[in-house]
Amino acid sequence: MAARARAKSRNRSRPRAAASRPRTARSAGAASTNAAAAKGNGQAHDLLARLKQGAVICAEGYLFELERRGYLQAGAFVPEVLFEHPEVVEQLHLDFVHAGSDVTEALTYYVHREKLRVIGREKDLVPMNRAALRIAKSVARRSGTLFAGDLCNTNVYDPADKSAIREVERIYAEQVGWAVEAGVDYFVAETISWVGEALLALAAIRKHSKVPAVVTLAIHREPVTREGLTPAEACQRLEDAGADVVGINCHRGPRTMMPLVKQIRSAVKCHVAALPVPYRTTPEQQSFMALTDPCRGDQRAFPVGLDPFMATRQEIFDFGREAYGLGIRYLGVCCGAGPHHIRALAESLGRHPPASRYTVDMSRHTIFGTDKRIRKIMTDYQPKA
Ligand SMILES: [Zn+2]
Repeated sequence: MAARARAKSRNRSRPRAAASRPRTARSAGAASTNAAAAKGNGQAHDLLARLKQGAVICAEGYLFELERRGYLQAGAFVPEVLFEHPEVVEQLHLDFVHAGSDVTEALTYYVHREKLRVIGREKDLVPMNRAALRIAKSVARRSGTLFAGDLCNTNVYDPADKSAIREVERIYAEQVGWAVEAGVDYFVAETISWVGEALLALAAIRKHSKVPAVVTLAIHREPVTREGLTPAEACQRLEDAGADVVGINCHRGPRTMMPLVKQIRSAVKCHVAALPVPYRTTPEQQSFMALTDPCRGDQRAFPVGLDPFMATRQEIFDFGREAYGLGIRYLGVCCGAGPHHIRALAESLGRHPPASRYTVDMSRHTIFGTDKRIRKIMTDYQPKA
């Protein structure tokens, strides 16, 4: 392990400053996505080589977007859509890649034994995992993006219960096995609030595969893991146990995630990940589960009343710019993310993914436009619009 840590320490390097604004000033051919560049120099399947060169963007948050599109039920949040409308899952992968994701992450989040037990579909465990992996692999190989396997919170883990720990180990071992069969380029273990559980996920990845591991913790309103460790302490443990990338995802929006990410960046030597939810969490309500809506009698907004708290594209752009400037290279957006957020994140890194063809340009707007072809009778009306 010491040799491994030293090797990682040698490989660590700070990113160059991201390209400066204005983002609409780039010509269409001036920049390519990281994916296209990586494809060209033989790094298509190598996460660590890509991280060495710069940022890697990973779109997450598939469940929330599929819920909004009408193909997934909030509550249990199990992606039965994999069977019912696989074409919708494929299109969402394609939409995120079009918007700048460097990764196509298999939608095996909540396709584990425990969640399928809760909805009474345990018999579909294997085919549903394989469907998710098949769809993601197809998109990844066509697009030159990285193909990631996904492990997540089991909702079974209890540090005091040996049989629960055995069940967690079983869940992770079998999901790692199916993903290895599918040929994933690396693993993500995500949205895990117990570092003990995250270590079990990492152990399964290390035991049953040879590919890199990204492990991201989910931190609720208290700035500690379920055991009471700071995220920095927890990430040190994950690094010591061999994780290639450590960090946090989900639950917290940019504003309340950033302070924790800074602490993690200075506590570990390996690459750091930050994938906030695109919601305006606050010092008083640090997680999206804690947000209450003053327009709705201070009811809990999670999960389907979060719309008024949505972060703008600019807020995600600012998050990406700041995080990359701090040396955080594995970036993404989690639950609530739409392709427009991923595009804003890509543009914050000076990139021009295909979706940037349609990035806002108000110069030709009917009323607020500055283009000489806009009629004066319309622009004169600006103060009243
Ligand atoms: Zn999430």
